[in-house]
Amino acid sequence: MTTGLNRALAHRLSPQARQRVRRATDRLTTGVGSLKGCRTDTPVVALTYDDGPDPEGTPAVLAALAEAGVTATFFQLVERAEQYPELVRAVLAAGHEIGLHGIDHARLTTRPIRQASGWLVEGRARLSAVAGRPIRLFRPTYGAQSLRTYLAARQAGLLPVVWGPSADDWRDGDPAEVANRVTTRLGPGEVVLLHDGFEVPPGDHTPRPAFDRGAVTSALLDLLAERDYTATSVSGLLRHGAPWRTAWFRP
Ligand SMILES: [Zn+2]
Repeated sequence: MTTGLNRALAHRLSPQARQRVRRATDRLTTGVGSLKGCRTDTPVVALTYDDGPDPEGTPAVLAALAEAGVTATFFQLVERAEQYPELVRAVLAAGHEIGLHGIDHARLTTRPIRQASGWLVEGRARLSAVAGRPIRLFRPTYGAQSLRTYLAARQAGLLPVVWGPSADDWRDGDPAEVANRVTTRLGPGEVVLLHDGFEVPPGDHTPRPAFDRGAVTSALLDLLAERDYTATSVSGLLRHGAPWRTAWFRP
C-alpha cells in the first residue's frame, strides 16, 4: 500500500518531501496503522529495546539510561522474562515500560493465523503475569506483520509498535559508530530501534556483537543531546502529540 508508493517515489524526492508524502498517506491508513511515533515538531524520540531481558545487555543498558535519567520501552521475549524475572522487575523498578516481543523469536507471519492468534494471547498473558501489570504494546519480531496478524494483535489487546531509525545493533562495530547509524533517519517523534538482547533467524550465523550495549546507549544519548534531542519511552513520546500510525506490512 503506502509503502509501495513511498518506495516508488523515494528515489525522486528530497527527504523532506518524502516525509510529507509519507505523513499524508499515513493519514489515510490510520484504521490499520501500527504505531510509528508521534506527530510533533519537538526534537524528541522514543528509545525501544528488543530481544531482552539479557543478563549482560539489560543491566548495561539500564545503567546507561539511569545515568542520563532517561526512560525507555523494552519489548521482551516471554521465555527470557520467565527465565530472568529479576531483570523484568529491575526494568520496571527503574521506571521503564515493557511491551511484548514474542514468546520466543519466531516469525509470526509464517504461522497459521489461528496459531499466531493463540501465541499473541498467551504471550501477552504470560508477560503480564511476570510483569505484574497488563501489557499493551507489541513489537513484531523482524517487523514481520500481515493484515491478519495485525488484527490478531489488536484483538489480543495489543498495539503493534514499529520503528524509524535503527542502530542495526545486531551488527558489530565501535559503540559510537553503532549509535551514529541512528542519525540517518533521525527526526522529531520517531521511534528508535535498539536491542538489549541478541537474536538472529535460524540458520543465520552472525556472531554476537562484542560491543557493550550500555556504551552504545551512552553514545546515542550524547549524540541526541548534541542535536538538542531528548529521549523517552513510547508512552512518554505520545505525550508530545497525536499518535503517528502507518500501515506496516512485511512478510
Ligand atoms: Zn527481535
